[in-house]
Amino acid sequence: MVDVAAMRNPVEAAPSDAIISCRNLWKVYGNGASGLTGDLDLTPEEIAARGWVAAVRNASLQIRRGEVFVIMGLSGSGKSTMVRLLTRLIDATAGQIMVDGQDMLQLNDQKLLELRKRKMGMVFQHFALLPNRTVLGNIAFPLQIRGASPQECEARARELVEVVGLKGRENNYPSQLSGGQQQRVGIARSLAGDPELWFLDEPFSALDPLIRNDLQDELLRLQSKLGKTVVFITHDLDEAIKLADRIAIMDHGEIVQIATPEELVLNPANDFIRRFTSKVPLAKVVKVGTIAIRKPDLPSILPTVDEASTVEEVASAFRDHQGPIGVTSSGKLVGTVDRDQLYRVLSGTI
Ligand code: ADP
Repeated sequence: MVDVAAMRNPVEAAPSDAIISCRNLWKVYGNGASGLTGDLDLTPEEIAARGWVAAVRNASLQIRRGEVFVIMGLSGSGKSTMVRLLTRLIDATAGQIMVDGQDMLQLNDQKLLELRKRKMGMVFQHFALLPNRTVLGNIAFPLQIRGASPQECEARARELVEVVGLKGRENNYPSQLSGGQQQRVGIARSLAGDPELWFLDEPFSALDPLIRNDLQDELLRLQSKLGKTVVFITHDLDEAIKLADRIAIMDHGEIVQIATPEELVLNPANDFIRRFTSKVPLAKVVKVGTIAIRKPDLPSILPTVDEASTVEEVASAFRDHQGPIGVTSSGKLVGTVDRDQLYRVLSGTI
């Protein structure tokens, strides 16, 4: 049996690790709510009694440099508001947001624009491309606004056309592209300025499942190649689990749990998350390292799998192999797993 309680609890990132850190963030809508100041301590009942809506309620989170951080929740749970607060497209009612050491709420308009231009790329679900510009023209647009030379714009746009797999479509107009291709242009455009922080708000939700799956793979490929910090919003748990290093689950404006996909499934913070994650196949999230029997000084054993692989990923290694398989951590043999353990995860009985 896996000792779930002994699993690593979600830890708050050390400040040196965090590119975004927000504390006690609130966004309250309604008559008179804009006059609220200071630390807020409002109960849901007090908010409802005043006819207000707390789109984000007392949210704190830290996003680590280089991770894929997914914010997920049902429609209306506050995800879009959260991402708009983090980028300060809207102002918070209360709380603090630090982005790469800068206090977002203290920046004047010019500094804010600079920070967005220098550090942030954004993709939204309905990310309108400019209809009278070609693929190249659309991708180059943010660079043009920034005053880059025509040669620089063209070279960078051509590079990005390749990165997002649109070679041959350079001179097409948006109306000549499919929805998936248009979203690839949007992705390329958001990468034009080489942002460190990449915000994607439901970017694939309007696409067909197959195209969506392709673009998710593409995003993972780009992220591992480019090493961006990704903040990805979705209402789709499968998408969250596929993409995330860590997931923040929102419910009625609150962040209920921040955890890895594995932790969410094995150690849900409350019944809402337990119900929410109950259909996720364990093999998709449970890491080999979690079920490995750790042994010091093991003799060499083959084959081996990395402890960070999921059970689903390594199941095929057992197809032609009866005995235990080695588990490695940073290349070093640390333990073993056997067929029986794997079977228990695959059958959902750990
Ligand atoms: P999600 O992105 O998870 O669907 P949103 O952040 O869009 O959720 O919305 C969270 C809540 O805040 C919803 O109840 C929504 O109706 C409310 N809300 C969002 N924007 C506004 C606004 N400008 N005025 C009033 N209420 C809003």
